[in-house]
Amino acid sequence: MSNRLNVAPNDLSAFWMPFSSNRQFKQAPRMLVAAKDMHYTSSDGRQILDGTAGLWCVNAGHCRPKITEAIQNQAAQLDYAPAFQMGHPLVFELANRLVDIAPEGMDHVFFTNSGSESVDTALKIALAYQRIKGEGSRTRLIGRERGYHGVNFGGISVGGIVTNRKMFGTLLTGVDHMPHTHMPAKNSFTRGVPEHGGDLADELERIVTLHDASTIAAVIVEPVAGSTGVLIPPQGYLQRLRDICSKHGILLIFDEVITGFGRLGTPFAADYFGVIPDIMVTAKGVSNGVIPMGAVFVKKEIHDAFMTGPEHLIEFFHGYTYSGNPIASAAAIATLDTYKEEGLLTRGAELAGYWEDALHSLKDAPHVIDIRNIGLVGAIELRSIDGQPSKRAFSAFVKAFEKGVLIRTTGDIIALSPPLIVEKGQIDEIVDCVRSVLQAID
Ligand code: PLP
Repeated sequence: MSNRLNVAPNDLSAFWMPFSSNRQFKQAPRMLVAAKDMHYTSSDGRQILDGTAGLWCVNAGHCRPKITEAIQNQAAQLDYAPAFQMGHPLVFELANRLVDIAPEGMDHVFFTNSGSESVDTALKIALAYQRIKGEGSRTRLIGRERGYHGVNFGGISVGGIVTNRKMFGTLLTGVDHMPHTHMPAKNSFTRGVPEHGGDLADELERIVTLHDASTIAAVIVEPVAGSTGVLIPPQGYLQRLRDICSKHGILLIFDEVITGFGRLGTPFAADYFGVIPDIMVTAKGVSNGVIPMGAVFVKKEIHDAFMTGPEHLIEFFHGYTYSGNPIASAAAIATLDTYKEEGLLTRGAELAGYWEDALHSLKDAPHVIDIRNIGLVGAIELRSIDGQPSKRAFSAFVKAFEKGVLIRTTGDIIALSPPLIVEKGQIDEIVDCVRSVLQAID
């Protein structure tokens, strides 16, 4: 490892950090300088157990040799190939490999570089598809309150987080939002899928009645809303959304940027819930978070609708300079190999019971007002300090880092999603740390 990695620069001012309290961070920086398997190394030489798979992405654990080698080899072999009107073999192989593990019928893949790009790509595919089919009046998009679909304009328009939207003007017009599915009064401390709230899907019928189906192109939801605190869909909810969309010719888009690639103990959330969308948005785990990459899966009939007209013409005026980049493709193939060899796409199912019991053992810890879990993801919701929302959870985050565990917080919710290689003893370590932190903070 080069020494440079271990030297914290004296001047932190030039870098404008994303989604961070820059001024606070720069007064007391938390720096990571290395990683291996389940651990980071901090700049002061401590081992930090990763309770969040980085940012919900390092599903196979850190610096896995197969992935590292694939990247190194590919960088030396073919560093870049133009993405438009040119190809390289790896990206075609990767698309085939992804289709092999995708839910039934999702058999074409469009590559991007992030979740945000995947979301906007999916929305554009949906709008263009409706127009190609002769249904150009279908321009309306439906998202959900407390939905997170990245930070590009399409994504924040269908997203439902006020802080991510309110500074940026009118956003896309013609967007409606369904209510979120979080019902604390009825479902608090539910283990797994909540019992109450499946009928919230009928809000979609209300929106259809208001605008008429002929104006609606697509509905986009995260099967499990991750970034706003692990909101698990109530029993029957996703199936009901599927039924309403099918009935009205509306496309159903699942944003599986977090739930994809084994997080719930199945390859995708669509598999977990037995509900197949028309378009599936992924990123993060596709390349183990190591190199930016996103992948949008579509059903054959959607793809094929574009493949008409003169063959010399471009069918879809969309794409990125780095779509299917050779090094990202190599990383993703090595990631899929690792998932396969180690059974990681289903390992969450083996550990889910242990994970659930461990998380719910925090029920009586100070400040806890709800605990939610599914697969290898979970949330511990804390009572907010009056007038200072998110302060308590942020204190927990800082203390946990001091104690050697990386957790993630959103508002006053602690979200946990360890790499899928986590061992039971490490689950205990994460939960014990959270318990002691909750006991230590005000
Ligand atoms: N969609 C969902 C559900 C996400 O959780 C995220 C990121 O956390 C995104 C989209 C955006 O992904 P990215 O940060 O790679 O643009």
